[in-house]
Amino acid sequence: MSRPYLMIPGPIEFTDEVMSEMSRPTPSHVDPAFIEVFGQALERLRTVFLAGPDYQPFILAGSGTLAMDSAVANLVEPGDRALVVDTGYFSQRMADIVQRYGGEVTLLSAAPGETITPEQLRAALAEDACDLVTITHVDTSTGVLTDVKGLSAVAKEQDALVIVDGVCAAAAEEMRQEAWGVDVYLTASQKAIGTPPGLGLLVASPAALAKWRGRKHPVGSYYSDWGYWLPIMQAYEARKVGYFGTPAVNLVMALNVSLQQILDEGMEQVFARHVLLSNAVKAGLAAMGMTQLPADMAHAAHTLSCPCYPEGIDAGFLRFVRAEGAILAGGLHPVVKSKYFRIGHMGAASRADVLTALGAVEAGLRQAGYAVEPGVGLAAAQAVLA
Ligand code: PMP
Repeated sequence: MSRPYLMIPGPIEFTDEVMSEMSRPTPSHVDPAFIEVFGQALERLRTVFLAGPDYQPFILAGSGTLAMDSAVANLVEPGDRALVVDTGYFSQRMADIVQRYGGEVTLLSAAPGETITPEQLRAALAEDACDLVTITHVDTSTGVLTDVKGLSAVAKEQDALVIVDGVCAAAAEEMRQEAWGVDVYLTASQKAIGTPPGLGLLVASPAALAKWRGRKHPVGSYYSDWGYWLPIMQAYEARKVGYFGTPAVNLVMALNVSLQQILDEGMEQVFARHVLLSNAVKAGLAAMGMTQLPADMAHAAHTLSCPCYPEGIDAGFLRFVRAEGAILAGGLHPVVKSKYFRIGHMGAASRADVLTALGAVEAGLRQAGYAVEPGVGLAAAQAVLA
């Protein structure tokens, strides 16, 4: 490829089949062929999240932040108590959104690069009963993976609703929405889901819908109100015409293709491929002498890696990496921002892609003046892939 490869933690590189949907003539949003596509996309989203037929998918025009807003605006009423499992930058955004809709937030915060265990959550909830627990599946700022299954089980001991931000995890990290008792799993199109930016995606459980139906106060956001969107999603799934706001037609067509590509691979294979690629990247980085965030690989994400700059190297080295063929991201967590960079390896990412990224990092490091033995990172990664 003549252009550098985009390997940040989203947006990612999209498949040719997805991109060709983006360039097709835009049909009417009430064209029967488009209604069929939208209906399929809703069904496929539910399947990708491993949720049952009574779970309600929503496909909205907007980014991942809109999906967060949609979940919270509809499920939080003034005075509701929410415990926010805080593993970094995006958990804090969730706390802000809950407060904006009148919820009372208790933050259960981990240090940057650390996680929160189910035992810690149980202790926090024993002190402070909550109506709602929010969890960030993968914190994109530090590469921390949370134990959604364990945390969610603890929240259910108290009948709390569970909202999980899966923006940097959905369709990559293991997630069994129904089996794990997750009431809302939400994401955005531009990461492992594999569609250009512009769609907020969420699937709500029957308990979440019941909580919304029983609200005493109107939903505080006009655009996010499920009262407008639920009939539209139900209409498309029933292959009927519905209109509230014009859907992002080409993005929905592209989404339908990417969801089918994910399902063709199979969810278990998708989860396993992300583990394998992540292990290869992390082994390659370690072999080049770099430490990583999180320090404990037991709670490291498989969608991205967060290597710390070696002594004497800073973010300036990323321009050498780019010239060598890979666009990577700098640090994001305000407390440790200048100490690390980030490599995304999710969605359609392949073995060849992660080797490209590692090769570019190695060449970039040498150009920045850091002595690294040629091929040492690639050899370690290849050993994992073999
Ligand atoms: N949550 C997480 C975990 C994210 O990584 C992001 C985006 N990087 C968001 C929420 C917000 O998504 P968006 O930028 O699409 O609004």
